[in-house]
Amino acid sequence: MENLSRKKFIKQGGIMASVFVLPLSFHSILNKKEMSDKKHFDVIIIGGSYSGLAAAMALGRALRKVLIIDNEKPCNRQTPHSHNFLTQDGKAPKEIASLAKQQVSMYDTVVFHNNLATNASKTENGFEVQTSSGDIFKSKKLIFATGIKDEMPNIKGFSECWGISVLHCPYCHGYEVRNETTGILGNGEYGFEFSKLISNWSKDLTLFTNGKSTLTSEQAAELERHHIKTVEKEIEELEHINGQLQNIIFKDGSKKSLKVIYTRLPFKQHCLIPEHLGCELTEDGYIKIDTSHKTTINGIFACGDNVTRMRTVANAVSMGTTTGMMINKELIEEKFTDKK
Ligand SMILES: Cc1cc2nc3c(=O)[nH]c(=O)nc-3n(C[C@H](O)[C@H](O)[C@H](O)COP(=O)(O)OP(=O)(O)OC[C@H]3O[C@@H](n4cnc5c(N)ncnc54)[C@H](O)[C@@H]3O)c2cc1C
Repeated sequence: MENLSRKKFIKQGGIMASVFVLPLSFHSILNKKEMSDKKHFDVIIIGGSYSGLAAAMALGRALRKVLIIDNEKPCNRQTPHSHNFLTQDGKAPKEIASLAKQQVSMYDTVVFHNNLATNASKTENGFEVQTSSGDIFKSKKLIFATGIKDEMPNIKGFSECWGISVLHCPYCHGYEVRNETTGILGNGEYGFEFSKLISNWSKDLTLFTNGKSTLTSEQAAELERHHIKTVEKEIEELEHINGQLQNIIFKDGSKKSLKVIYTRLPFKQHCLIPEHLGCELTEDGYIKIDTSHKTTINGIFACGDNVTRMRTVANAVSMGTTTGMMINKELIEEKFTDKK
């Protein structure tokens, strides 16, 4: 009896010890794992707007551990309404992004870090990304869905009107201002081609060359034949009320009443990290990618406005989805060939 209870005691003691000791060490292992898990990902996506979120959804649905780093500065943030994206036509840009973020958040392997990515470097097994908060995250693959930065000309009132009554794209906003008194800010070949395009939406059209015209005589004659006027005066200011254009004020003091202006701005990559990592750019300044959205550096992918001039929400989403699928495929291939 005594023997038995001693055995029982030892057995129970062992169990008790394992209850008290094991969970402690198990906990610390778990904590360490959780901590490192919070810093280690299959994929880090820099840029969490339309393209980055679409990539995250594809990867989340493929059970991948994903970190999205975003500092919430999408290029269309000043536009009151976004158009030409099925099911979301006319919604505010932020509304579309918020719904997308809410849906992506449902996938529990996807996490968000609201910050600016400041630097990234190659490691033995992938990449390391630093943010302005001082955090460092690691991943096997990197996606840049960082968009582009439009460079505003030095014209008073221009940036306040950008995306409201100074527009970049007739497919996004042309329907809403059809047949209005419309201007195009541009010159030469680009001014000519853009005038032809916009004549589809308004017959009351003027090309403002903002200085001497560089149209060829054939181009000038062609515009005239289609009743498109050309004004060479230099522009001083865009007079507006809350971004709604009222008049162009010229440097000679004269003015012209207008509802809307189209123009294409020069741009820079919003994020310079891809270049620092060695990703090549195209002649036009976009990140060079192949059909799988791979950049010229192994393991780095790019999608959205930073790779194409076909600048629409629909296209950014489509490219993000493709990129997510392509990365997942690459990770599967690497697992099967034991490359990583
Ligand atoms: C004024 C304007 C109006 C438009 N209107 C329409 C429209 O009506 N319909 C339409 O279809 N398209 C429209 N577009 C085009 C559309 O907005 C873009 O095609 C789309 O936003 C591209 O998505 P993206 O995810 O590639 O880039 P973006 O939406 O520009 O997002 C890039 C994201 O990356 C983040 N980011 C960049 N660098 C870093 C970094 N280092 N660290 C962390 N985060 C970073 C930015 O903060 C941003 O959130 C408009 C564009 C403009 C400029």
